[in-house]
Amino acid sequence: MVEILEALFGGDQVPVIAGPCSIESEEQFSRIASQLHELKVPFLRGGLYKLRSQKDSFQGLGEEGYSIAKRVSEKFKTPFVTEVTDPRQIEALSEITSIYQVGTRNMYNYDLLKELGQQDKPVLLKRAFSATYSEFLNAAEYITGVGNSRVLLCERGIRTFVKETRNTFDINIIPYLKQRSHLPILADPSHGTGVSSLVAPIALAALAAGADGLLIEVHDEPQNALSDGQQALTPEEFKKLMKTGGEILNAIGRSLYERS
Ligand code: PEP
Ligand code: MN
Repeated sequence: MVEILEALFGGDQVPVIAGPCSIESEEQFSRIASQLHELKVPFLRGGLYKLRSQKDSFQGLGEEGYSIAKRVSEKFKTPFVTEVTDPRQIEALSEITSIYQVGTRNMYNYDLLKELGQQDKPVLLKRAFSATYSEFLNAAEYITGVGNSRVLLCERGIRTFVKETRNTFDINIIPYLKQRSHLPILADPSHGTGVSSLVAPIALAALAAGADGLLIEVHDEPQNALSDGQQALTPEEFKKLMKTGGEILNAIGRSLYERS
């Protein structure tokens, strides 16, 4: 089990990390954070450094967004989670993030992982879209091996021959890792499907399969989002997902973690 602030990942209560793919402006982030706050979401996500497949796509606000993240996270008393893409960002990000997220493209960036292994904040390690289970676990060992035992694994979909979805969410990995590793395994059905209408069904399947947490992209104006709008849930859709998710968890002796 991994304790992060007041939440415990891997126990009977399942925490959710939600928020937009990217922080686009203070107005946008604050609006979404406020709606998630009402739903008692325990962790607020928002990308500042976006590793986009195309160089002309929105790359994130970077350092300009730090103060926005800090103000919004403090205003709604919700700990912030963001991705770190370069070891040089670690120190400054430690002021604003409660968890360092490592993205799918960086799972093999062992220098970054070793550096995160020396920090006293937890790491959310996403599976590379091409990684085998043992490559994924070996990557986690680069962090735990140098002293940081607080690692959350996250399945976010892999690349397959299927063209209709952005990625294929690998549900097998959830029970598999629960049997083989003591590290919590989270599910990110947003990137795992890339299609907003598929996010809730796959999130529910992941909870039923034993996922120790969810990472969900939420945007109140998905059509205007600067990244990943096509896979974002609206706050309304997210609220419905939380309700059904809570019911599924209750059926298996767990419950949704709610911010106190
Ligand atoms: C994200 O969480 O916004 C993200 C970029 O995820 P991934 O690294 O899984 O693509
Ligand atoms: Mn995204």
